[in-house]
Order: sequence, then structure tokens, then C-alpha cells
Amino acid sequence: MPKLSINDLDLHDKRVFVRVDYNVPMEEIDGQMVINDATRIKETLPTLERLIAAGARIILAAHLGRPKGQREASMSLRPVADLLSKLIDRPVAFVDDCIGDKVERATSALKNGDLLLLENVRFHNEEEANDPIFAVKLASVADVYVNDAFGAAHRAHASTEGVARVISQRGGLCAAGLLMERELKFLGEELENPARPFVVILGGAKVSDKILVIDRLLEKADTILIGGAMAYTFRLADGRKVGKSLVEPDKVEVARACVAKAKQRGVQFLIPTDNIVATPVDSGKLNKKGRPIFDLQHPRVNSSSDISDSEEGLDIGPVTAARFSEVIRNAKTILWNGPMGMFEDKRFGEGTNVVAQSVVEATQKNGAKSIIGGGDSVKAINKAGLGDRVTFMSTGGGASLEFLEGNVLPGVAVLTDK
Ligand code: AMP
Repeated sequence: MPKLSINDLDLHDKRVFVRVDYNVPMEEIDGQMVINDATRIKETLPTLERLIAAGARIILAAHLGRPKGQREASMSLRPVADLLSKLIDRPVAFVDDCIGDKVERATSALKNGDLLLLENVRFHNEEEANDPIFAVKLASVADVYVNDAFGAAHRAHASTEGVARVISQRGGLCAAGLLMERELKFLGEELENPARPFVVILGGAKVSDKILVIDRLLEKADTILIGGAMAYTFRLADGRKVGKSLVEPDKVEVARACVAKAKQRGVQFLIPTDNIVATPVDSGKLNKKGRPIFDLQHPRVNSSSDISDSEEGLDIGPVTAARFSEVIRNAKTILWNGPMGMFEDKRFGEGTNVVAQSVVEATQKNGAKSIIGGGDSVKAINKAGLGDRVTFMSTGGGASLEFLEGNVLPGVAVLTDK
């Protein structure tokens, strides 16, 4: 059932509680917390500008990091208020709590079009516990609820679910912001009846993280391309040797079931036939988690479907990349989640780059709709400078995966039906 959008509402004079995703990366420089990447703040501007134009009184709520119910100066949202104010070119008031007298005073001082950012909701344990009394306190200053934080919508927390429930029970309306609306459109509606061929590209570290997505998409896709470390579990299921590659031997049966389902449904299911491999050598150093760091030496193309005992597969090989590229360039709908290799290291990034270029080519030349399902594939597209040449990039990581699995996200379910 489609959900109400802010475009459907009359928000003049209304106090609107807007849950946004301002969980931005920060670092301490000379005792000050500095925001490293303002993408998430910038992405909320269309919604905020729409609310301002509609004459709403805007109360913004968000979480930052994992303060676990404690006040942590390094996880305060105050720097976000300052940066938002610069980006939107108007004052953004800030209050150093998200409930209580101070919040009541600050909200009653708001005029139409004013903005107020509340302090990190996770400074209270009740947020993640979705405590009903806390939700009532959050809701006490608002007439309408808006969720524009798709990336947090898979969690039933007080600011993503509880507060909306309270407002609904009072007869108030709960709507999607513009960013949320786009996520629901591209990850949801557009994939219901996709233009064909519909090609799904899945990569990343583990089969176990994506198996439910693969299973669901086997019902819709014409072709599924598998890359990344998870391809080695499929290789193992095929009786191949995977050397020191990242693999999940306990998921071999799951992988076999996937391949069988693909066959039964007539879905083309391609796994890599060649790889870039390297020899991991213990550097004698430990990482932050105390685990040994391995140098990846002697990278080379391995054209065999088996990997030697001393080597590790780290990217798809050139033959696989060319085959994937051909399939992608002919697609009319593309969904991509997860890199083809350990793309953070340039030596193992070529497969991901070829896929990114092919997705862009299909979009620009073949009129394909290309949907990038969040996380590392978004990073990879941005790293290649191609972010504006695909149809849609999701802002969610875990939320995108859960949504693609076909789950109803609690932060979406609670919004008012159209
Ligand atoms: P995910 O979050 O599941 O999409 O996984 C992304 C991570 O998988 C990235 O950090 C990649 O470096 C990693 N990855 C992809 N392919 C491989 C591989 N063949 N071996 C090790 N790590 C990989």
C-alpha cells in the first residue's frame, strides 16, 4: 500500500517532527568535532525546503553513532545544526536534549518555516528500546510525523516507529519525506514490474548477508550475476577449490539450493569463471582488532576455476568482467548491491569498475533504469565519479537489504496509507 508523502499534506502552521539520517562521519580536529562528509545532510535539503515553503514548523530528530544511552560530547549533533544552517542558508536552532522542558520551550518559539534540531536521540536508552513513554514525550511537541531516514527505517526505535504510532493514535498524519519516497519508489515499485531484461548484480563479502535477497530476486530477475567473496561459496558448492579465499563452507547447501531454484525458474545465474588472485603473507603486524594483517603479494589473473592452496581470490577476472559487462549493457532494469572484489585496494578494483562503467553505459545508451542498492556499491560508483550517471542510489545499507528481501520496514509500515 503506498504511503502518504509530504506532498499530500497541508502543513501550514503545523509542528512537524521529521526523523532524518544525520549519522555523518566525524573526526576530532584540535578538540572540535568536524564533519567529514555532508552527503546525508545535503540529501535532506529538498524535503526541508518543501516543508519550509509549506509553512511548517520543523523539528528535526536524528541519531549519531552509538552512545548507548549516555551523553557523549563527541556524538553531539550540534555541529550538524551549524553545517545545516550554512547549507540551507537560514538559522537552525539547536536544543541539547530531545525531550523535556527545553524542547517544549524551543518548539513553542518556532514560527512557520523555522528549523530546530534536537540532540542525539540515542543519548536516551529509551530510544533504541522503543519505550512507549519516551515516544509519547517525543510526540508531545508535534502535530505531524515525517520520516526521511530510510537508512534507519529497518529499526523499530522510538524516533523511527514509536513516535509515529503515538501521533497516528491521536489522529495525526505520518508521511514519507521526499528522500524516503524515492527509496520506496525505486527499491519497491520500480522492481515490482521491471522492464526486461532485469539483471541483478550481487557481490560483497558473504552469502549469508544476501541469501534472502538472492532468493527473493530469483522470483523477478532474468539474470543474476554473482561476484565478490560470496562467489567462492558458490564455487565450493560446485566442487571447486577456493584456496585461501573468504568463503562460508556452512552455506554451501544454501548456495546449491539457489542454483537449483534459478534453474527451475529459468533464471540465468552466472558465477565468475576466472579471478584475480594474490598470495596472503603474514606481515607480523596486528590490526585495531588484534587480528594479523596479511600483505597480498603477487596479484595475477587466474584463468582456472580452481584456486591454489596458497592463494586467495580477490576480484573477478577479465573474462568474467567482459561477460558480466555484455549482460549488463543489454539490460533494461539493473539492481546492483555489493562490489565484485576487494575494491578498496586498486589492484582488486577493476572488476567493480567494469561493472560500474557497464551500468552507466546501460543507463545512458540503452535507457536502462539502474538502481544501486546501497552500501559499498554506492561507494564504488562514487569513487569512479559516476554517481550522477545512474538512475538511483539508495541511502540505506542494512535497510536496503531488508527492504529488498521483501520485509516491511517498521519505520515505513507505521506511516499513514494513501
Ligand atoms: P558487503 O558489505 O557484504 O557488500 O561487502 C563489501 C566488502 O566485501 C568490501 O569491503 C570488499 O572489500 C569485500 N570483498 C569483496 N570481494 C572480496 C573478496 N574476493 N575477498 C575479500 N573481500 C572481498
